[in-house]
Order: sequence, then C-alpha cells, then structure tokens
Amino acid sequence: MIILGTSNLNKLKEYQKIVPSFDFKLMDKMDIIENGYSFMENATIKANAVYEKYHETVLCDDSGLEILALKGFPGIYSSRFESGRGFKKTCEDLLDKLKDYQDRRARFVCCVVMIDKYGDKYSAIGYLNGTIAYEYLGDNGFGYDPIFIPDGYNKTLGQLDEETKNKISHRYLAMTNLINKLPQRILRRLNNND
Ligand code: IMP
Repeated sequence: MIILGTSNLNKLKEYQKIVPSFDFKLMDKMDIIENGYSFMENATIKANAVYEKYHETVLCDDSGLEILALKGFPGIYSSRFESGRGFKKTCEDLLDKLKDYQDRRARFVCCVVMIDKYGDKYSAIGYLNGTIAYEYLGDNGFGYDPIFIPDGYNKTLGQLDEETKNKISHRYLAMTNLINKLPQRILRRLNNND
C-alpha cells in the first residue's frame, strides 16, 4: 500500500492509471504548510509530514506550470494562483497575461518524493514541454490542462484523452524515473500490495 499525499482526486486517478500495479490510498486531510522555494522542496516537506503521521510507504508530489515569458510563473504558485476563483477563470487570467506574447513556451513539472515504510527516501522529476494555447479548449483533465498544448500535438491536454495524457505527462515521467531508481526489494513489495 502507498499513501498518496494529496487530496486531489484527479491526481489519485492519474497515479492509478500510470502505475496500476500499486495500491494507492488517499491520505486523510492534513494541513501542510508548503513554504519551500522549489517543487522538490515542497514535495519533500509534504512527504516528511505524511510519513510522520502514517509510518507507511508514502508518495507525495508537487507539480505546476512554468511559463517561460512569465519567468516561470505560476510555477510553485500554480495552486495558490487559483485562489478560489476556479480554474477556468484562472486559465483565462493567464491567457490575458500572455496576450501580447508570441513566445508561448511552457512546461509542466512534477517532483515526486517517496518515503518507504522503513524511512528510505527516493525522489525524481518529470517535465512535459509544450506551449500555451490562445484560448481555453477542452474539458478533460484538470487545472491548466485546457490551455496547455504538449509538444508534438496540436490539441490541449483538455482535448486529448486521459490515456494519451497519462503516457506523456510530467507525472508519468516523474513516476517512471522514480520506479527506475527504486531497489527491486521495494518494487517487489509495492507490486505485491504490501
Ligand atoms: P499541487 O501539486 O497539488 O501543489 O498543485 C499544483 C497545481 O498545478 C495545481 O493547481 C494544479 O491544478 C496544477 N497542475 C499540476 N499538475 C497538473 C496537470 O497535470 N494538469 C493541469 N494542472 C496541473
């Protein structure tokens, strides 16, 4: 079993699709102050807090969207920038900020930190490069998906189906990198739902 340190059901669904052999459980709600200066620092803060509570294998991530023309904004503030107004409005506000920019380059970042039940820590990063669309398109996925066009595609993640997203996403790449670093004994345990 792996405690997934998030209350975001969309993330749970994606992790279950990305690694169907792992038995993910959602954590109970916790208020964790994410005051790090990087995705990795925030993912580590979350993982330490969730491990302290459960003493089981935990997986935490911190993720977000970095827009080159906005010097990486919203970055680690991707969640806070939404601030209760809903993601449609948040995406439209970003499109507005970008209206005078031709350079639409952006990337999604995902940092994952796993602490296994004996306290060993493993971490990895995944990036999905792309561009910001000129309008909000599609209802699939969540968050900033409807304004992000992955490189090699001509549709937003909001228009692409979930199978496609889960084969190319920052979360998929971070998880693949993490799994490649895990010792066989841990992988065996996780694949046996222990
Ligand atoms: P956190 O990782 O839970 O702190 O939240 C990251 C923020 O970035 C959230 O506001 C998400 O909506 C956004 N975000 C992270 N991953 C994705 C994604 O795969 N698609 C769209 N938005 C994302």
